[in-house]
Amino acid sequence: MTIQQAKEYSSWIEVSNSSDFPLFNLPLGIYSSDNESSYAASRIGDTLIDLHALHSLGYFSSIDLPDMIFAQETLNDFISLGKATHREWRARMLEIFGKDCGDLRDNAAHLEHVLMPVEKAEMMMPVFVPDYTDFYSSREHATNVGIMFRGKENALMPNWLHIPVGYHGRASSIVVSGVDLHRPKGQQLPNDATEPVYGPSKMMDFELEMAFITTDGKPLGQRIKTEEAEDYIFGMVVFNDWSARDIQKWEYVPLGPFLGKNFGSSISPWIITLEALEPFRCASPTQDPQPLAYLQTQGERTFDIQLEVAIQPENAEPSTVCRSNFKYLYWNMAQQLAHHTVNGCNINAGDMMASGTISGPTEDSFGSMLELAWKGTKPLTLTDGSTRKFIHDNDTVIMKAHCEKDGFRLGFGEVRSTILPAIND
Ligand code: CA
Repeated sequence: MTIQQAKEYSSWIEVSNSSDFPLFNLPLGIYSSDNESSYAASRIGDTLIDLHALHSLGYFSSIDLPDMIFAQETLNDFISLGKATHREWRARMLEIFGKDCGDLRDNAAHLEHVLMPVEKAEMMMPVFVPDYTDFYSSREHATNVGIMFRGKENALMPNWLHIPVGYHGRASSIVVSGVDLHRPKGQQLPNDATEPVYGPSKMMDFELEMAFITTDGKPLGQRIKTEEAEDYIFGMVVFNDWSARDIQKWEYVPLGPFLGKNFGSSISPWIITLEALEPFRCASPTQDPQPLAYLQTQGERTFDIQLEVAIQPENAEPSTVCRSNFKYLYWNMAQQLAHHTVNGCNINAGDMMASGTISGPTEDSFGSMLELAWKGTKPLTLTDGSTRKFIHDNDTVIMKAHCEKDGFRLGFGEVRSTILPAIND
């Protein structure tokens, strides 16, 4: 699928050139318009499409879909139907909303049930997340953190170029864009202190990541190979893996991240499928040394997705502090999933696998405050004149992702959330 081919899909629903949601995108999410019932939705431009209404009116009768598949609080059951069904759904959506199809367009009574302005909908968590894994797949990020904590000579650990390093995170505290989080409290060891203290984190950070959401995998014991891995990936979201650096630094030896990470991660509400991203496929960085055979991939296995992060202080304009790209990642998603399952570990529909902080080669492409302000030694100045070493109370962090090439744009929208003061108890 080329950019030119994707561009030719145009809808009778109006879409501006700067929108992340042309007809070709067809993201999936869960919305509520009354705070009581939730339904699956898609989106074209600024118009939300209620998939349950569309299904009830018979528009998907050619596909084998359970009656209530879109009238649920999550997309997990739809994801469980598998990629063949997802592709049938997508083909049918492209047909219904294509500019020459009058079936829905010319039926005023149906339109009233199916479409609504996106601003009237509240976007909910799109999936129930059974398990969450966080990788550490950006060479630039791993190198930067390594230099800060171990020095230039030992920046990358000996395993890093051989293994897509990862750890099991906490699924319960993954929240959707718009849900604000309180600054976490915990143990920290202040500089020069010999005894730890307890209190609000003073080094609150974001991590610019993307996550992929899996379909059901294979039975326990069987692995997913790199060449089939994408058949088990439903789609992707933007992922802010909030991190309390002072809590993390004190606790992480020897078992890795724990309370410095598990108080919250925020995701963008619309899941973008790999089919929609297809025109933006590109090559990953060259891998040297060559990975072991079970990790090798052929062809273009990643996507050119432009990323940005802005910090918005209370009552001020947002300042963009980072511009990066998903394609910088050293390990691609097929390698991550193949590695995750090589020991027989099973996966389920709705599992979320985050990339790790996506830093690029230049200082303005670093994906965390830890790196951007280099451990607090180079504070950033925002457009309102204030400075930041880490995230302040009432700062809103906004992450956006989109693909753009030859005048064709398609994207993820954004994930935004505010860090509220620590709960005083
Ligand atoms: Ca992370």
